[in-house]
Amino acid sequence: MVAVSGGEPTGAGSAVDGDLRDLFGQSIAVFASLAGPEHVVESANPAFFATIGEERARTGLPLVELVPELAGQGFIGLLDEVHRSGEPYTGRDVRIVLGTGPTAREAFFDFTYEPRRDGDGTVVGIRVIGVETTQVKHAQLLMAEHRALLEQIARQAPLAEVLDGMARCIENLAPQELLVSVLLADPDGLHLRHGAAPSLPAFYNEAIDGIATGEGVGSCGTAAHRREPVIVTDIGTDPFWDDFRELAQRAGLAACWSTPILARDGSLLGTFAMYHRTPRVPRDSDFALIRVFAGTAALAIERHHSEQAQRAAEQRAESAMAELAKAVRAEQELRTEAEQRAAAAAELADQMRAAAAAHAPAPHPEGCQLGGAAGCTAPAEIKLADSWGDSAWGCTSHTEEALIHVRSAFIASEELGGLAAYRDR
Ligand SMILES: [Zn+2]
Repeated sequence: MVAVSGGEPTGAGSAVDGDLRDLFGQSIAVFASLAGPEHVVESANPAFFATIGEERARTGLPLVELVPELAGQGFIGLLDEVHRSGEPYTGRDVRIVLGTGPTAREAFFDFTYEPRRDGDGTVVGIRVIGVETTQVKHAQLLMAEHRALLEQIARQAPLAEVLDGMARCIENLAPQELLVSVLLADPDGLHLRHGAAPSLPAFYNEAIDGIATGEGVGSCGTAAHRREPVIVTDIGTDPFWDDFRELAQRAGLAACWSTPILARDGSLLGTFAMYHRTPRVPRDSDFALIRVFAGTAALAIERHHSEQAQRAAEQRAESAMAELAKAVRAEQELRTEAEQRAAAAAELADQMRAAAAAHAPAPHPEGCQLGGAAGCTAPAEIKLADSWGDSAWGCTSHTEEALIHVRSAFIASEELGGLAAYRDR
């Protein structure tokens, strides 16, 4: 575990300019003095030996023996030409592959081959001066990708697409193999969900999806919990990985550097992690890269959250409008129904008034016959009949009640036959 000094929270508003400078790094000149047509390395500065590898830090040998991979890349031929012609040679951003097999690394250099002459002006060797531009080249490419990502975020591309694209661009441009993972925090900040990890195996992503944030929960759970970067340089021995070591080894992961992704208000949005296949300690430029892209991820996630909030607010407003419309419709229906009922009641009252006037001269019992078991003492005023020929006299209130509740009852009249039937029986 390497303690990270100066690990400030990586919010969207971090000092991106400083990080970009770090990302471009410091260029150190390599220098070597070669002698004779064989280009024997007479002397070289430490940066030269660091570049070709400390295990090859020797002098007194022809360059092609010290760094045999140069032969196939045209460098020895160029040196031969400079030695023969006495003309210096300068190349810019020259690509060179150093080492072989799995340890091979691509590098870019600005080179100058300067002839060295003796007192007579005869070329006796070559002075090689180079400045490594690898980091600058990579940083330039990264910044172009970074700009494209910002444009994508501004265009409101879907979050998964932005994060996936970001992960792939970092992976593609890294000089060494590197696997990027973005986890997204739940709103309560207590769990992390899969966000983007295009190069990690599916079984690994599934196992990590939903892990709790907390001290000792791998690099990401701990970084989320602490709200600060957690750099695990060797998963094989780090106690934070006790519960996930077997899983990580199955996925071929040996180092994991994780940084919390924080919102402008300091709340947790997720984590941004870089995994490596071999144990590794980050350099300043790695930290710069992490800060720049954790900040970019923060922008993308915050943008996504605000879009979600806006959509939710729109949906709430829509459903409130729908509720209101429903209430208005229900009120209208109730009012219509009440009006219809009032009209029907008024019509019935009119009919009963007319019937009472019409029935008054006819012979009829003294009292209401519709009071049921309880009886009714009100005077009989209206004669009711039904379609089966039954008839009875009722008071106004019992008549109304019977007309409403007995489907076949009607006010007896000559036209409808009820009263006639009654008279004839
Ligand atoms: Zn009655």
